[in-house]
Amino acid sequence: MNKQVAYRLLEKNMLGYADLIGVPVQPVWERLVPIKTGTGLTALPIDNDMLAYTGNLIFVRESVLAKLRQAASMLAKVNSELQLQVVYGYRALSVQQKLFLKYRKQFESTYSGKALDEATHRLIAVPEIAGHPTGGAVDIQITNAGVPIDMGTNIWEFVKDSFTFSPFIGQEAQDNRRLLRRIMMDAGFAPFDGEWWHFSYGDKEWAAYYKKPFAIYSQIEFQIEP
Ligand SMILES: [Zn+2]
Repeated sequence: MNKQVAYRLLEKNMLGYADLIGVPVQPVWERLVPIKTGTGLTALPIDNDMLAYTGNLIFVRESVLAKLRQAASMLAKVNSELQLQVVYGYRALSVQQKLFLKYRKQFESTYSGKALDEATHRLIAVPEIAGHPTGGAVDIQITNAGVPIDMGTNIWEFVKDSFTFSPFIGQEAQDNRRLLRRIMMDAGFAPFDGEWWHFSYGDKEWAAYYKKPFAIYSQIEFQIEP
């Protein structure tokens, strides 16, 4: 199949900006907690922009941490050598805005208007509906002895072969993506199939994916004590 046709079919099956804009939020209050490296779960921040807000820690909502631990123990049952590694959790809204504008620039020659926001959204969420600023979304990979296993692309490699179901990556990488997606969904996360590494719980993406009446986490401002 022609590559561009295949990518367009995959895009059609993803939830887009337009699907999320109308999702209501009925916020529950839950603390943000740091992910402590422990049984089957590690944290390795990859964005220096977040240092000012969270230091060298990754924060998520309490229930998200519990679900990550659940996913890690499911992974250990599949293969005890494997660990889940979180590289991103809570993101300040100002950092989301900066990232969004940076990536939107790259698409300005190809798209305009609504299509421009949709195309950018497939890589970096439109700030007002983004999951990371709620503390409900994570970017995550699987490691073996500390080394990321083959996923076909690197984590945070913003190319179309990072679409979870890209058929243009090796068979082993396709299997590894399916494994990550399965254990994360079994733990209660919603996948985002535009990025094999992005999963969320409680945000608008999660509500839309599972057809919940509302999201339970709103975006929040957070900063560790200096
Ligand atoms: Zn993400």
